[in-house]
Amino acid sequence: MRTFIGDLHIHTCLSPCGELDMTPKRIIDKAVDRKLDIIAIADHNSAENLAVAIEIALKRGIALLPSIEVTSSEEVHVLAIFETLDGAEEMQEMIYKNLAGGINNERLFGLQVVVNEDDEVLRFNRKLLIGATGITLKTLVDKIHAIGGMAIASHADRHFGVISQLGFIPEDIRFDGIESANPDFKTGPDIPRITSSDAHCLDDIGKRTTALLLEEPSFREIAMALRQIDGRMVLQN
Ligand SMILES: [Zn+2]
Ligand SMILES: [Zn+2]
Repeated sequence: MRTFIGDLHIHTCLSPCGELDMTPKRIIDKAVDRKLDIIAIADHNSAENLAVAIEIALKRGIALLPSIEVTSSEEVHVLAIFETLDGAEEMQEMIYKNLAGGINNERLFGLQVVVNEDDEVLRFNRKLLIGATGITLKTLVDKIHAIGGMAIASHADRHFGVISQLGFIPEDIRFDGIESANPDFKTGPDIPRITSSDAHCLDDIGKRTTALLLEEPSFREIAMALRQIDGRMVLQN
């Protein structure tokens, strides 16, 4: 086993708040540049840039976990990390059925761009991705687990984090990890703390990372590290 460095929370240009040069190609170039071993690409409430990201990551030899940052009905952000694109797309299907109606106000929130491998615009997503879904936090976390994914409480102690929205973590919500940049943040027994960049611009990629002791940089190994199984573990943030 050895140490692998992960940045498990990066947005692309599909997120309205993500900068337009956050294309999967440029994100992966930057991640390779910064010697990251594993990244998770997670847009707000959508998986539409993941297929191309996975393809590029495979070619560049960097591990990429297909993810979505889902907004619950309580306006809590949850990072849903999956092993396969299928998992993320199943999550997306539920999200799209439960998104508030209306179209994205591009001037107010920003463009939501779906791109190809060569950074060319394929289409603009017009859904209101920045808004909350109608899915309660409990239903959301249960659904992520039912699909076989991991549920991480995004920036738990910041705006739209579970603590800032609810004031506490409800007992029946079983997060696999808590994201917080604060080393003194108490996650509760058996729930590891991770740190990620939550990058919306290229320069932020890898600015905050999590070191993991793993056999290989894969979804299964990270899931084991979060549960501290067979020597796998989250080392430091
Ligand atoms: Zn967030
Ligand atoms: Zn985010």
